[in-house]
Amino acid sequence: MIQLNSRGIPINIESPTLATIFAKSINNDLVAQRADGGTIALYKHVPELNNDQMIVGLQKLDNLTEGDIVYINTNGAINTLYRRDSLHNALFITDRCNSNCLMCSQPPKNHDDLSHFYAINTALISMIPKDTLELGITGGEPTLLGQRFLSLLAQLKYELSSTEIHILSNGRSFAWRHVAQSISKVDNRRTVYGIPLYSDDYRQHDYIVQAKDAFNQTVLGMHNMARYNQRMEVRVVLHKQSYRRLPQLAKYIYRNLPFIEHVAFMGLEYTGYTVKNHDLLWMEPVAYAEELEEAVLYLHAMGMNVSIYNLQLCLLKQSLWPFAQKSISDWKQNYLAECSSCSKLDSCGGVFETSKRHSTLISAIR
Ligand code: SF4
Repeated sequence: MIQLNSRGIPINIESPTLATIFAKSINNDLVAQRADGGTIALYKHVPELNNDQMIVGLQKLDNLTEGDIVYINTNGAINTLYRRDSLHNALFITDRCNSNCLMCSQPPKNHDDLSHFYAINTALISMIPKDTLELGITGGEPTLLGQRFLSLLAQLKYELSSTEIHILSNGRSFAWRHVAQSISKVDNRRTVYGIPLYSDDYRQHDYIVQAKDAFNQTVLGMHNMARYNQRMEVRVVLHKQSYRRLPQLAKYIYRNLPFIEHVAFMGLEYTGYTVKNHDLLWMEPVAYAEELEEAVLYLHAMGMNVSIYNLQLCLLKQSLWPFAQKSISDWKQNYLAECSSCSKLDSCGGVFETSKRHSTLISAIR
């Protein structure tokens, strides 16, 4: 796993700032440049102090490379916001959410952080290289930004005009038709919304997301977005509460959401609420192999674009290997000791480093 945060001792840092790593010094220390051209030095050791802005005594610097963009706080914390060499960069919009899913890997927090992250993200977008291929938008629920969500979409369209934008949203806000209509006016065909749907039975979906009427809002929201020609994928997380009706859900998606351009079935990340809700959620992936195979092959046969995320090849039926993607973000991807002797190591996406538990059935494919 790649370390995204570090902390040293701040010297002369009076306000938080974003800066781009742009040079290494002779000692392999780093220099970061702010948008206004000023610089901040990042040192492992403690150099002779002067009036320059610097963070000293950092334990590690080799997690940063030239072109990375960091947020430097007055307390000496350095958070990596953009990694030049990664395809998994994302803008984090908020910790808030209007759902409270049983398996949320990053449980919502009820504090008003919208303005804080909005200020960071608008500055960050201007600093991100124009040739960036892909950028995610995530939270929490990004649409809780309201009007500022539209501003962000417009800024992305104009400042990163060739970047593919992938937005994770529970889709409930789109049930209000004017929201979908306003989004469509931004008119960026490079934007895709990844929206979760966990069952064709509204009661089961509402239970999993712990929100009454969520199923109706999400499905209506997807139809509203389709009415305004927006691009969408459906995301289905696999666990004890969702696996039984996967075949029925696949048929529901095909019949009722034909405008969806991609369906992703996703293995659990065992962290956040999943740990607390272990008994409700955890099952070995091989235990839902039949249902998953039926759902995936049905959608594929009906001509829909379908993938499997976050599941290891050794836990999947061979018929499903062509659908398995290396989906785990590079900074949280890892392999187990067992994997070193596996013949499929290169094509397998491995496991979540962030998961506190992995399947006991992971074993090298000879
Ligand atoms: S043993 Fe490791 S590399 Fe091989 S398929 Fe399983 S998880 Fe992937």
